[in-house]
Amino acid sequence: MSGGDKLDFEIRPNPAPVSAADRAALLANPGFGRVFTDHMVTIRYADGKGWYDARVEARAPIPMDPASAVLHYAQEIFEGMKAYRADDGGVTMFRPYANAARFNTSAARMAMPALPEETFVDSLHRLIEIDREWIPENEDASLYLRPFMFASEVFLGVRPANEYLYLVIASPAGAYFAGGVKPVTVWVSPDYTRAGPGGTGAAKCGGNYAASLAAQAQAIENGCDQVVFLDAVERKYVDELGGMNVFFVYDDGTVATPPLTGTILPGITRESVIALAEAAGHRVEERPVTFAEWQADAASGRLREVFACGTAAVVTPIGRVRFPDGEFAVGGGEPGTVTMALRQQLVDIQRGKAADPDNWVHRVF
Ligand SMILES: *Cc1c(COP(=O)(O)O)cnc(C)c1O
Repeated sequence: MSGGDKLDFEIRPNPAPVSAADRAALLANPGFGRVFTDHMVTIRYADGKGWYDARVEARAPIPMDPASAVLHYAQEIFEGMKAYRADDGGVTMFRPYANAARFNTSAARMAMPALPEETFVDSLHRLIEIDREWIPENEDASLYLRPFMFASEVFLGVRPANEYLYLVIASPAGAYFAGGVKPVTVWVSPDYTRAGPGGTGAAKCGGNYAASLAAQAQAIENGCDQVVFLDAVERKYVDELGGMNVFFVYDDGTVATPPLTGTILPGITRESVIALAEAAGHRVEERPVTFAEWQADAASGRLREVFACGTAAVVTPIGRVRFPDGEFAVGGGEPGTVTMALRQQLVDIQRGKAADPDNWVHRVF
């Protein structure tokens, strides 16, 4: 394919899709990340050739040579987004071009080729269209989409690979908070950091997650739900959670979140929450927040609410904070009103139930 041409997808329907009855049973309680649809998208890339062989085909294992570069040097990036069933029977997504742009920012950091944004969004459309029956009907559920790309070249030398495979798989997801939103308890990691200056913290790469797992395991051992990472240089400033950005709400209505200095993943939910908070009249500050300040302001009552946000859980209140020397609550450990209002507003926009002044909702069909 030459540079600007639109990539055509070859559609090869799955000859043996899951039966309607089995699908209904799976959709009744899909949980997260265990149930998959009948199809996947694959697109190949080779240096000198560009992107080629775009397909929608039956979801199946991908044969891999043991010397595939990704298995050794972890050249891999991904995205995470949701498709929703609209009230009129159509399907929507939330800001997919923002994911497309971030995918290419991640690709650049990992020395991988860019995928045209149109191709990225088109690939999601194709998969949603063919697997539309897999989008759960019920209110808080969605079809989670996972686009990803990895170095597929068979070569053990250390350099950017010459060949890549891009895929999209889809997984129906139930309500994240079955039985209502519950505040989480977070663990502030004393020994592990997530990303340093000049590192890959702002790229959505699998390696960042691999590096976070020991800290997340420590959080679980300490009875917490999620880990909070402090900055890698001074171990003083709050960066983010393993997979969610963090916000602080003060008694004067100010909302603060750590700035994007390269060690934090630029969440699309984060950016949307900033816009919604500003529109609601809050002063929003992107500024460094120290853990000491978090503790002191929670104790004085100046800090009223803390929440985490990301595509999977949207907005999640943080009720308690634990660290090796102790534990404290924020806002009495209950979900705060600003947190819940921002959450509701975002969910309502995503579900087509509220005005969408910034055109965040993207119609698939
Ligand atoms: C994906 C991700 C987020 C949230 O990003 P959204 O675009 O809001 O889903 C936050 N932190 C990390 C480390 C992530 O990987």
